[in-house]
Amino acid sequence: MPSATTMVAGVAVATDHFINGRRVPSAERFENASPIDGSDLGSVAAGGKAEADMAVAAAKSAFPAWAALGPKGRLPILKRFADGILARAADIAAVETADNGSLLAGNLHRMVPRAAQNISFFAEWALGLNDHAIDHAEVVNNVRYDPAGVAALITPWNAPFMLTTWKVGPALAAGNTAVVKPPEWAPLSCSLMADIAHEAGVPPGVLNVLQGIGEEAGDALVNHPDLARISFTGSTDTAKIIGQAAARSITAMSSELGGKSPFIVCADADLDAAAQTVAGQYINAGQVCLAGTRIIVEAKIESAFLEKVRAAVGQMTVGDPRDPATRVGPLIHPDHFARVAGFVDRAKAGGAQLLWGGGRAAAGGLYFQPTMFAGVSLSDEISQKEVFGPVLTWQAFRDDAEAVAMANGTEYGLAGTLFCGDEARAMRIAEQVVAGTLWVNCFFVRDLSAPFGGSRISGIGREGGTHSFDFYCDIKNIAVRKGSFMAKGA
Ligand code: ADP
Repeated sequence: MPSATTMVAGVAVATDHFINGRRVPSAERFENASPIDGSDLGSVAAGGKAEADMAVAAAKSAFPAWAALGPKGRLPILKRFADGILARAADIAAVETADNGSLLAGNLHRMVPRAAQNISFFAEWALGLNDHAIDHAEVVNNVRYDPAGVAALITPWNAPFMLTTWKVGPALAAGNTAVVKPPEWAPLSCSLMADIAHEAGVPPGVLNVLQGIGEEAGDALVNHPDLARISFTGSTDTAKIIGQAAARSITAMSSELGGKSPFIVCADADLDAAAQTVAGQYINAGQVCLAGTRIIVEAKIESAFLEKVRAAVGQMTVGDPRDPATRVGPLIHPDHFARVAGFVDRAKAGGAQLLWGGGRAAAGGLYFQPTMFAGVSLSDEISQKEVFGPVLTWQAFRDDAEAVAMANGTEYGLAGTLFCGDEARAMRIAEQVVAGTLWVNCFFVRDLSAPFGGSRISGIGREGGTHSFDFYCDIKNIAVRKGSFMAKGA
């Protein structure tokens, strides 16, 4: 049966599930609209238990042959997959931008190339997985990274294509098969991913895409008894629900969740670079889990630095994310707009001082002004809760102990940014901040071999390089007594 398709930005996108190498429809469908202008992007299949069962069964039956290929056998297929992503970069970027409102230039030049790299990097890394042995007086420990089985991969709407490859890359490279559940507010780019993988020769059943609503398709998927892994990126509240499903079946789960990350600026920092980077926290309308949303500035430079940030933010254009001049696009959905506006209204009502922004931007629709609140205390809702919008807070510190206390004063621990001119001081502060990643005099640089994840309620586990394989593989030690084999020919 030909798949239902929708035309988005001139690209035909299949809107059915992709299971066992073919398109599978659902009786139920959900509507999808563009945050850019509210235009209709067509309906998408809404899976339930039947489709989740079908997808996991396909992944389960494809697993033995995919696992048996070994890293070397999988490498050329995954390299073709990565090349296929690059070949369709313009289509993927255009569809992603139409679907979630993220900046087109960013998708084209950064997110899609990174997505391709996620596939090829982990495929190559897997070649060396079983190369090491640990020598002991009596035994040699041969440490093996074996494929684990079917991985359920659940991703959010702010960067669905790139974040899905961050999971699909190591999961498939490790020899697992996968069922991807894309976000219902931006479901289309992952559908393109299924086509690209298929055309590259990824065998039927190895990569399945189950479309649908989180509480329905996602819930059916994570409660399936045949999963070996669940990898989730999304909100802390959803992670608590999925974690209960994982606990019932003792399925290993990794989660990368929200953040309320500190952005500390010391008096001796390069203040121009720091101000530009603060302004950069508004990109993609602040819908970035890693964003440094709490600006924590050394008191003696507070007013000078504020003027630099104000000037940098004043240069930012809010508007259509397809326009190369735009820095701040729309919020994803009317419900999310209402949520962000609710945080801002409550902060205003609570007496926070609005430095700029505070409501709908001149562009109208789902466009929200870059917003900054001062006069907040650490215990205020606006300091504690993740807004996931272009809303920052501003606080001043007098000494480093106070900066660290402010930085660590939420339940989150995903990331942090520090601008500082003194290396010893920077390292002293950095070592005390609770975060999975702490950037010093830079932001957003993510090395694929470095560990990535969150502390506290920002997540469980680390991915990246060998850490991804620690999660996606069943690690086994074959401990062999030294000298216990008869010599050949004896
Ligand atoms: P956000 O608040 O960023 O939308 P969510 O945590 O709600 O983040 O969603 C992230 C992903 O989790 C989406 O793909 C969504 O469909 C999925 N999801 C939401 N609820 C559930 C659930 N109960 N079980 C499984 N997946 C879910």
